[in-house]
Amino acid sequence: MRRLRTQVAIIGAGPAGLVLANLLTRAGVDCRVVERCSRAHVEGRARAGLLEHRTVRALRQGGLAGRMLAEGTRHGWCDFRCLGRSVRVDYGALSGGHTHWVYPQQFLVRDLIAALAHGGFTPLFSRTARAVADITTPRPRVMCDALEITCDYVVGCDGSRGVSRASLPATHRVFPRRYPYDWLTVLAEVDEAAPCVVYAVGAGGFAGMMPRTRHLSRFYLQCAPGDTEAHWPARRIHEQLRARLTPLPKVGGFPDVRVLRMRATVTEPLRHGRLLLAGDAAHVLTPSGAKGMNLAVADAVDAAEALIGRLRGGEGHALATYSERRLAEIWRVQEFSDRLLRLLHLPPDEDPGFALRLRLAAIQRLAGPGPHAAAFAHQYVGSGAEGGAHGRAD
Ligand SMILES: Cc1cc2nc3c(=O)[nH]c(=O)nc-3n(C[C@H](O)[C@H](O)[C@H](O)COP(=O)(O)OP(=O)(O)OC[C@H]3O[C@@H](n4cnc5c(N)ncnc54)[C@H](O)[C@@H]3O)c2cc1C
Repeated sequence: MRRLRTQVAIIGAGPAGLVLANLLTRAGVDCRVVERCSRAHVEGRARAGLLEHRTVRALRQGGLAGRMLAEGTRHGWCDFRCLGRSVRVDYGALSGGHTHWVYPQQFLVRDLIAALAHGGFTPLFSRTARAVADITTPRPRVMCDALEITCDYVVGCDGSRGVSRASLPATHRVFPRRYPYDWLTVLAEVDEAAPCVVYAVGAGGFAGMMPRTRHLSRFYLQCAPGDTEAHWPARRIHEQLRARLTPLPKVGGFPDVRVLRMRATVTEPLRHGRLLLAGDAAHVLTPSGAKGMNLAVADAVDAAEALIGRLRGGEGHALATYSERRLAEIWRVQEFSDRLLRLLHLPPDEDPGFALRLRLAAIQRLAGPGPHAAAFAHQYVGSGAEGGAHGRAD
């Protein structure tokens, strides 16, 4: 059995764990990341692609944004299509100049691992954490096969099916929501980069297009709850994209097709003793507002500040209030994501003619002008100015 001692043990090398590890090590805090999968696997896992304004700001401040700023692209508007109309929401202008950056999650993960490796803190890959013990003592432990890490604090960044959340006592509650539909998610080869996010609302079901790289876009197609990839041969995907999302770029092959269960969860509270939860381990969001990865990074930034303060001898107030602070924000973001989903899907029992006209009216309000549109723009782009404050981007 190999034994290690560190200040902070981090379980999971996704965006949350890697941002946290980078911020801690840059502040002189010793930490170890254990990751169940291989390095090649996590660096190749295509998921999110839209980084919010405040995510980019945090990465910049941490000195972690170099390659993203060189290779990513900025996006400040999205299109909603409904009843044959295309309505542009220029959230960049409406929020005073804040924008998204398009940079695939796997590229960011690769950069964050490289930065850690450069400082001598390469995560321990292919190491599954089996249990977290002694979290209410000053020396919690993370147990992996043939490895035990003793530390001052453990941060569970191990996603929605990890071991950290399962280590919480039954007094911690998980609040789940299951939506009455699923999304087929398709990574597709395209002849030109998507110029912006497109949301199409229609009687045949929602469809969306998200930019990723010059030759890849991610598409979403609403499908029946419980549907499987087996029901979606390439011919049907092409057909449905054309029916729901015209005009379309020229779409080629589909390197990745899967059904995403449309569900959301929040765990309360996010701390027990010396174990903190961050990212998808703490909350799952649907991809509707492109919030999951961004909220994971926001948790990591908050946890890093709180832990650095405590480990430098502070009185630990920020750490004691971590859960309260994060939950207030997590529920704000869940509410936004839920609201956007309601806009994008028609209730099955309503007359589509009436429901679609209501949707179009709501979409046109988002295009502005006025405080309603500004508030949506700030929340959508993650400016950090909650509630529609009219700050300028930095
Ligand atoms: C198709 C798709 C599209 C998405 N689009 C967007 C988007 O546009 N914008 C957005 O913001 N979000 C999006 N998301 C969500 C986003 O990808 C997640 O919210 C994000 O990955 C969460 O980061 P995380 O670090 O918390 O968790 P993860 O990225 O899930 O990382 C957790 C890590 O922990 C590891 N792990 C698990 N258990 C253990 C264990 N026992 N021991 C050791 N390691 C363990 C896992 O292998 C994994 O590497 C999307 C998700 C999907 C699936």
